[in-house]
Amino acid sequence: MSVNTLKETNKLLASFVPPASFTDEEQEPLNTSVQLHRHNIADEISERTFQDVSLCYQCGKCSSGCPVRYYMDIAPNKVVRLIQLGFYEEALKSSTPWLCAGCQTCSARCPKEFDLAKFMDAVREIAIEKGIEVKEKNILKFHKAFLDQIKSHGRSYEAGLVAEYKMKTLDLLQDVDSAPGMYLKGKLAILPHNIKDRKGVKSIFKKTSGK
Ligand code: SF4
Ligand code: SF4
Repeated sequence: MSVNTLKETNKLLASFVPPASFTDEEQEPLNTSVQLHRHNIADEISERTFQDVSLCYQCGKCSSGCPVRYYMDIAPNKVVRLIQLGFYEEALKSSTPWLCAGCQTCSARCPKEFDLAKFMDAVREIAIEKGIEVKEKNILKFHKAFLDQIKSHGRSYEAGLVAEYKMKTLDLLQDVDSAPGMYLKGKLAILPHNIKDRKGVKSIFKKTSGK
């Protein structure tokens, strides 16, 4: 390195102002309510999913393979980043966790073996528990209708799911023309196929909902 270049480099380094370090006390996420900020949601997600949220090193491989990324407002890896940095409200209000199909492509692709599908599940549950207004209101209704079927039958029951979803949204004609084709292909059973241990499933719901 020439003397001139060295001088220029030193000058540049001297003018460089390092970013303020984030400590838990100093960190002040934008637009984040005090109540949410005080609560460490990153730790809560880590506990609920049995994996450390800080494992994710933001390579973006998950988002590049996500089949519904196009419809999301924030890329899936960026939701993880928001949580890591304490921008909880932004993460919990995002439509991304609600549009996540739980396909687990991201989890299978992650070089850090971070289960992002599980992470999205925890974000959804925390958003509901904290009364965060969900952008995708009908998806929340779908989510609840789906869980109700699992609770009642121990597995998904599509006809019950459709009926409950339509009652909740009052959008009775949406996708109604798909029903005959789905029925003929065996995708829409008229009667539910209950599992044997439905009581066991109900008790899991009871335990996990804290009731
Ligand atoms: S693939 Fe894994 S490590 Fe990479 S950004 Fe996604 S979650 Fe993070
Ligand atoms: S689980 Fe969700 S975030 Fe992950 S690839 Fe599938 S849709 Fe995308």
